[in-house]
Amino acid sequence: MPRTEARPPVVKLKKDLARHIRAGHPWIYRDALAPPGPLPTGAVVDVHGTGGFLGRGLWDARSPIGVRLWTLDPAEPLDGDLLKRRVAEALAARRGAIDPAETDAFRLVNGEGDFMPGIVVDLYRDTAVVRFDGDAARAIAEKVVDAVREVTRPLGVVRVYERSRGAKGNILHGDEPPAVIEVREGGVRFAVDVRHGQKTGTFLDQRENRRAIRPYCAGVEVGNLFSYTGGFSVHAALGGARRVTSVDSAAAALESAKSNFVLNGLDPAAHAFDCADVFEWLESARAGGRRFGLLVVDPPSFAPSEKSVEKALAAYRDLFAASLGVVEPGGILCAASCSSHVDMESFLGTLRDASMRARRPLRILEIRGQPADHPTVPAFKEGRYLKFVLCRTR
Ligand code: SAH
Repeated sequence: MPRTEARPPVVKLKKDLARHIRAGHPWIYRDALAPPGPLPTGAVVDVHGTGGFLGRGLWDARSPIGVRLWTLDPAEPLDGDLLKRRVAEALAARRGAIDPAETDAFRLVNGEGDFMPGIVVDLYRDTAVVRFDGDAARAIAEKVVDAVREVTRPLGVVRVYERSRGAKGNILHGDEPPAVIEVREGGVRFAVDVRHGQKTGTFLDQRENRRAIRPYCAGVEVGNLFSYTGGFSVHAALGGARRVTSVDSAAAALESAKSNFVLNGLDPAAHAFDCADVFEWLESARAGGRRFGLLVVDPPSFAPSEKSVEKALAAYRDLFAASLGVVEPGGILCAASCSSHVDMESFLGTLRDASMRARRPLRILEIRGQPADHPTVPAFKEGRYLKFVLCRTR
């Protein structure tokens, strides 16, 4: 939209959210908005408070979030050029955090945290995988693809693939991604299936936490619960673990984990891959007297919504108490949660309760979260979802 064109339709605020908006929170719920009439999803709108213009964003006619804001500058059009600037800025913001010599899989755009609400772009070497959160973001797909292609061309990206939640994979540019893309994460090799893998193919957000466990693994019996394709397991084995036991209920994920061992010159036969329900596995491991020097517990989200938080906290407490039952005295428990509805203090509370229940005092050694390629803005606490706490038991 060139500056000379008509201004976008004005959506008025029914609630005084000026502070919230100026602080940088990009979401405005529908019940706080009065549109001028029916607007199509994906329409660019200007949000006005009592004092006039507050921000410009995309309208969603169906989602409870009526507008996601892209700019607070009235002179900045929400167009393809803005998208290109934002993607270029996102790439520049990863400088220093991602060393291209050893890591070629990372999150290029983290939605709200990169001032591109509803848009996630993960790079897997030559493939960009895009995830649109909501139909408004999806409505500008073409412009997103143009921006991503232009900015990532020097990185050798040849295709753009879509993996939005609840939808089938979709080629946005280039050809079908191969069955497996081999990437490097801190020099460690992983095979990723961007068409069928979880999220956009794998969990890029645990990269630094995987590295963080390594120094604790030498000569140690390591367990990795909810191992998926073995991210933590491979790092543990490379860190000199005596043996790594990976536990997951998905047989295919464990097969991928074995392939990832092989890719890194590790013999899967020297390690264990247990296809089991973690909760049942923990019971029998404890009964069988199995003990681990380091145990990673990284379950799927237990709290899909605000309403389910109490239940989720109880589930974390039970899981970590049971986990402590198989950690040897002086051993390490690495407890993770990816629920955005559970904040760090509540999460630490589940560890306090688990330690009490299991009668195993804990020393918290490291409190970690998401890596620098998953940034968030201060006002948007919804974006700070990952917690990773490393503690030593007695
Ligand atoms: N730690 C992994 C990511 C874990 S994702 C990484 O670093 O990549 C969660 C995994 O938990 C999935 O692979 C899923 O198959 C598995 N899972 C979910 N519920 C389970 C259960 N009850 N028992 C065992 N595995 C489970």
